Order: sequence, then structure tokens, then C-alpha cells
Amino acid sequence: MFDCKDVSEQTNNYIDGEVSLILRIRFMLHLFICKSCRAYIQQIRNTIMAISILEPKEKDDTDKSALVKTCLLYTSPSPRD
Ligand SMILES: [Zn+2]
Repeated sequence: MFDCKDVSEQTNNYIDGEVSLILRIRFMLHLFICKSCRAYIQQIRNTIMAISILEPKEKDDTDKSALVKTCLLYTSPSPRD
């Protein structure tokens, strides 16, 4: 019997569509009867969606050397120390 532990172990494969047809059917049957696992899968999908939205789509053109110099300016001990 496919149970909650199986769902947690196969979640990534299920979401990525990398499970056999039999496993997918077992997974879906379990989700049909288990509210906790349905909520878990939805939470994982929401997290994936949030991360994909937050991921930067533009090239990072930050001047890193200037950023390091600025950080050093504010973190270096002052002459009074
Ligand atoms: Zn379950």
C-alpha cells in the first residue's frame, strides 16, 4: 500500500514527472484519500512557484570590486581605534 512515507520519498520525482504510470496512479490514489499529503504536495508546488518568480532573470552587473571597497570602508576600524 502506498502511504505517506512513500509520498514524501517520491515527491520530487512525482512533481518532475519522473515516475512510472503505476507509481503515478498509486500516488494519485493516495492523494485522493489523504488530505495531509495533498496539502504537502501543494505546499511544495507553491514553494517551487515562489522560487521561480524570485529567481533573478537579468544578468548581475554589480561592480563587485566597488562593493568590496565600500564594505571595507564601513567595516575597517576607524583611525580613533
Ligand atoms: Zn498521506
